[in-house]
Amino acid sequence: ENTALYDDKHMISRDDVIVGRILGEGFFGEVHEGVYKSPSGERISVAIKTCKDCSAEVKEKFLSEADLMKNLDHPHIVRLIGVIEVDPVWIVMELYEHGELGTYLVEHQSALTTSKLTQFCLQICKALAYLEGLNMVHRDIAVRNVLVASPESVRLGDFGLSRYVDEQEYYKASISRLPIKWMAPESINFRRFTTASDVWMFAGVCVWEIFSAAQQPFFWLENGQVINQLESGVRLYKPQHCPPTIYALLARCWAYEPQGRPTFRDLVCSFRCAPSPTPVL
Ligand code: ADP
Repeated sequence: ENTALYDDKHMISRDDVIVGRILGEGFFGEVHEGVYKSPSGERISVAIKTCKDCSAEVKEKFLSEADLMKNLDHPHIVRLIGVIEVDPVWIVMELYEHGELGTYLVEHQSALTTSKLTQFCLQICKALAYLEGLNMVHRDIAVRNVLVASPESVRLGDFGLSRYVDEQEYYKASISRLPIKWMAPESINFRRFTTASDVWMFAGVCVWEIFSAAQQPFFWLENGQVINQLESGVRLYKPQHCPPTIYALLARCWAYEPQGRPTFRDLVCSFRCAPSPTPVL
């Protein structure tokens, strides 16, 4: 919000955007593929988020994601190209044509090696270590919110629930659109969101999804049963293709007390050093 009024870099003209086919349905409206002609004449493939019933109140919520993204610059985070703030409001982002990581994992299941999956984990972890340095909590880390830029590279997206938090502080959520099965116990119980709860979501659940070909975590439970299970010590099982060293890492991120979990900086080192097993010939 602090930069919105003075931000020229992300003000773009609708005349420079060509809208193409629908890519999917977002929370606020359709997302289209398109092409953006930059001031230097470069043609960039883009994804255009639109807002369907955009009252002043909805518009503010819709644009809050773009406002956060304006300040982010990382090779493994979705890049914002620009915003058109007059009706119809558009958010224009770089296009990642391989789509959502969840779908990609299912479609390429047989071709994806353990070392490739570990590489994706490391890339998302680096993106989150960057956010940790900015005191930003993401709050919705899941394979449905990671986009595949190329077979070598993924990018964390969907900052719709993200917030800045002061050190020692946390974001107290009020909305109900929360992904219970991905959430840390303190987030479920007290709506408490910190970098430590992001660590639970990332290592504890998103990495599990990556090694499980995007199965839903706790698919055998109802949302309402999850907290009881977590409190009686139940955790997600080891996915078949998850190396034991990585599963041991996940287990550390499932510490009930947030202070007991590693930081993203620690995790970047751990994923870097995770041994990639010799391929089966
Ligand atoms: P929302 O977060 O508002 O619900 P999403 O980010 O889930 O919207 O976007 C809806 C659809 O559009 C998803 O299926 C996603 O795959 C696609 N999409 C969104 N952004 C991009 C992008 N930058 N590149 C490619 N596809 C995208």
